Amino acid sequence: MTDTTAVGQTTGRNPAAPGAARTVASAVPAALVARLAQGVTATGEPELVHTTAPLTGERLATLPQSTPADVEVAYQLARRAQKAWAALPVRRRAGVLLRFHDLLLKRQDEVLDLIQAETGKARLHAFEEVLGAALAARHYGRKAPSYLRDRRRGGAMPVLTHAIEARRPKGVIGQISPWNYPLELSVGDALPAFVAGNAVVNKPDTQTALTALWARELLIEAGLPADLWQIVIGDGPVIGPAVVEHADYVSFTGSTRTGREVAQRAAARLVGASLELGGKNALLVLADADLDKAAEGAVRACFSSAGQLCISIERLYVHRSVAEEFLRRFAERTSALRLGGGLAYGADMGSLVSDRQLETVTRHVEEAVKAGATVLAGGQARPDLGPLFFEPTILDGVTPGMAVCGEETFGPVVSVYRFDTEDEAVEAANSTTYGLNSSVWTKDARRGRAIAARLHTGTVNVNEAYAAAYGSVAAPMGGMGDSGLGRRHGSDGILRYTEAQTIATQRMLPIAPSLGLDDEKFAALFTTSLKALKVLRFK
Ligand code: NAD
Repeated sequence: MTDTTAVGQTTGRNPAAPGAARTVASAVPAALVARLAQGVTATGEPELVHTTAPLTGERLATLPQSTPADVEVAYQLARRAQKAWAALPVRRRAGVLLRFHDLLLKRQDEVLDLIQAETGKARLHAFEEVLGAALAARHYGRKAPSYLRDRRRGGAMPVLTHAIEARRPKGVIGQISPWNYPLELSVGDALPAFVAGNAVVNKPDTQTALTALWARELLIEAGLPADLWQIVIGDGPVIGPAVVEHADYVSFTGSTRTGREVAQRAAARLVGASLELGGKNALLVLADADLDKAAEGAVRACFSSAGQLCISIERLYVHRSVAEEFLRRFAERTSALRLGGGLAYGADMGSLVSDRQLETVTRHVEEAVKAGATVLAGGQARPDLGPLFFEPTILDGVTPGMAVCGEETFGPVVSVYRFDTEDEAVEAANSTTYGLNSSVWTKDARRGRAIAARLHTGTVNVNEAYAAAYGSVAAPMGGMGDSGLGRRHGSDGILRYTEAQTIATQRMLPIAPSLGLDDEKFAALFTTSLKALKVLRFK
């Protein structure tokens, strides 16, 4: 496909998206790529790497690659910059985030083009990233002073011991990010690290490095010292270990397989790590659900960013009494989605990102169909629209032996199952080693929350697909089980980038025999004191 017209999925009845004439090449000119490439930490005469635009298969960018030695240089530069940055008052650092928020909203079109060009997703789904990063910037810009302030704690002895808990920055954070949400998972996760007084050495996925480099430029414009955010580019297995090797803390987002390896390396060095990993997320449609809203929500849940979203839904459980009607509405809406590659709003779903993704999606669907599954919507690649398009697909009759049943597809494919009782639905939803996100649809919100409490996932959305929990940036977000360790967002999302330090100051008397008391009398006095403190309800 050489133009960027949004094309109707099967019938061609959908209108072309406005602005369809803008091509990837005109939106991401060579001069812009060359300018952004200067932000890569790569010394000497680096090897070059090329990326292609998923929407069209055209050459997109040529970038310098960093070596493991460059990663070391990046840490040295970051470490030097971090000392002065950490010495600034937290409100000064927070001011950078708030200015970044405003600049991002003002200049969003620039990054929407980049995200679409690098990932192939629809503009609406690219906008979700702007939204996520802006929410994180505002939240941590406003709340960081409170999250990070010294807190008075009860001392060993009332009055005699004054104790405070302080938060110190870890130092330099090693951050490794995937390609699927390149703005959100680079700058979005780095913002709390910066405001807590850290520097960051970030290895984005090469395919989506331009987006991270653009965000770095914008953050520098907002006031971040340039050396504080180092970006290194290269193959994960080649430079990823070096990123972990020098980090004071590791923030990793990607597959469970790589996450385990990263965790082992971090553990060997005794540095902490947060791991945001894969999922096989479930959506439950209860018998009392509003079926139109549930069908709309399921479309968003399954096909946003062409299903290349860690919290998107790949298993859909529907109460048998409403299954036929719900599936009719869901399949109808799914078949009407407009696939398109225009660099403008208008398409409902874009393309996959890579041959590897297309291969997995095709294999999961073809194997399932061969083994007896039925296609309720979609089911085909769409090379007529672009090299990596695949129709949003609903499968029925999926059984445990099929890869699509238990493995993460990470594409626009959902399998539907029917249930009779709530217990059965909860058990089925929990029958996976993953535990990232889930979604429950019911008119009874209280019942939805009660079911949520029984689901083994880090986030649960009641009457929404994923955006309610993800967008609630004041609350933690992350995975249970094989979906990860630690949380982004909320207090967890910033405190993970800090070390707790307790400073206790003893006054008047030591916590030891004194004033002529021998050891035995001291022990007796303390025993009496402990009993009294409990009676007086000291904590
Ligand atoms: P991936 O694990 O292949 O790659 C992620 C990052 O790790 C990339 O930057 C890659 O270059 C790097 N990497 C690869 N090998 C490495 C190694 N040996 N050491 C260090 N770094 C290495 O994952 P992917 O396919 O790019 O991303 C998709 C996966 O990410 C899916 O499983 C998805 O569910 C998950 N994901 C999770 C979240 C979340 O918040 N839980 C968000 C987005 C994506």
